[in-house]
Amino acid sequence: MQFRSTKSMFPLVSYKDAVLNCMPDDGGLYVPCKTVDFRQFFLNMNKKTTFNELVTAIAPSILEGGLNSSCASRIAESAFDFKPELIDIDDGLYLLNLYNGPTGVFKDFGIAFMSAILEEFLKDGEQAMILAAARPDTGVSMAHAFRGRKGVLLVLLYPSGQLRGLDSSSFVQNGGNIIPIQIKGTFDDCQRLVIETINDRDFSERYNVTSANTMNPGRLFPQIFYYLYAFTQLKNKLCGDLVFSVPSGNFGNLIAGLYAWKFGMPVNGFIAAMNANNSMGGFIHGKPFIPKPLIYTNSPALDVSVPINYERLASFYTEAPAVMRNIVYPASITDETTLETMEHVYKKYNAYIDPHTAVAFAAAMETSDRLKWKGNTNIVVLATGHPARSANLAEKATGKAIKTPDFLKELWKKCDPIALIPPQLDAFESAVASCF
Ligand SMILES: *Cc1c(COP(=O)(O)O)cnc(C)c1O
Repeated sequence: MQFRSTKSMFPLVSYKDAVLNCMPDDGGLYVPCKTVDFRQFFLNMNKKTTFNELVTAIAPSILEGGLNSSCASRIAESAFDFKPELIDIDDGLYLLNLYNGPTGVFKDFGIAFMSAILEEFLKDGEQAMILAAARPDTGVSMAHAFRGRKGVLLVLLYPSGQLRGLDSSSFVQNGGNIIPIQIKGTFDDCQRLVIETINDRDFSERYNVTSANTMNPGRLFPQIFYYLYAFTQLKNKLCGDLVFSVPSGNFGNLIAGLYAWKFGMPVNGFIAAMNANNSMGGFIHGKPFIPKPLIYTNSPALDVSVPINYERLASFYTEAPAVMRNIVYPASITDETTLETMEHVYKKYNAYIDPHTAVAFAAAMETSDRLKWKGNTNIVVLATGHPARSANLAEKATGKAIKTPDFLKELWKKCDPIALIPPQLDAFESAVASCF
């Protein structure tokens, strides 16, 4: 598969180049320049197909030319010692649990695959430096996936606040490959610094810099795999329509689903489940995109006013506006409904769900009622976060304390950055350079 910028038809770059140099010069984002057809693979897949078998079969067609099937199987093994889990909870209603990775969020899938593929790309002795603006949870997820990967240095830019869950034996000065730097500023300052550093050609060429945030297609496209996995698990028993409900903040997850559909997965719709931050709702209904001010809610990963992936979503609508309006259904869920839904799911199904999953669950119920889907539509709700990551909220909603698994406890241990610097490019670049 070759990629082009959302802003121009040329140049075309390979997946490898799009991963190692993730920002097109014209300020757009990389998108595939043609479709691939996954349908040939589904014929031979069913409930018994494992997740790693599916990844091994599909990845070479995404990487086109860059990967044969024995490399693909090695990468799948190296990336995924966890898998999605589809749970049948009611008639026509499923939870797709995506939180079984090392840090309990669905982002582990994209990050794990990207780190494994980078190691493969760099095996001839090249080096790359991966920059990522990190919140404490995504930082841990990246540190976990990139730790010890050959040829790869991971620089994490944290905003002010407490760092958690990093293991100092993985830091560069202790012989590892991770450089956590704290910026005296906000998450937006960190994101701005990542972009400024990449645009500083001298620095970025010297260190071969790219980013691990979702603008990098290396993280976005592996998220296609779990949609296909859910489909292959269901395909022999489905009658009626199939819809996925996706809790959406930066819209990377939803866009991966749209690519799965574009590349041949038979699906009838996607619910773009938002909390009160519903700026994208109007756009999806065909109006111009007007960002609204940020609102803080109890599903914080969805608190986004301008989604990083806006351009990618917009490119789908430019290509086929009428088709898109019939396949994406926006919904906006209040904090109150989120809590009620966590309680409802606990009481009715004896299952905890995290608040982001609750937004998607509530959005599924609302949309199904509104469009009178009952009886002929199967809905798969994406469960994106481990419920124990929001233990206080889970207890508030259900009245029952939730047990935190040990691996999550580790992630909350406090730790220190290796440098604390003002939010300026020169300060950042010298902090990085001083590590060598
Ligand atoms: C990041 C995140 C989301 C939102 O995913 P996007 O790809 O940004 O839309 C949803 N749920 C959880 C738990 C997350 O961490």
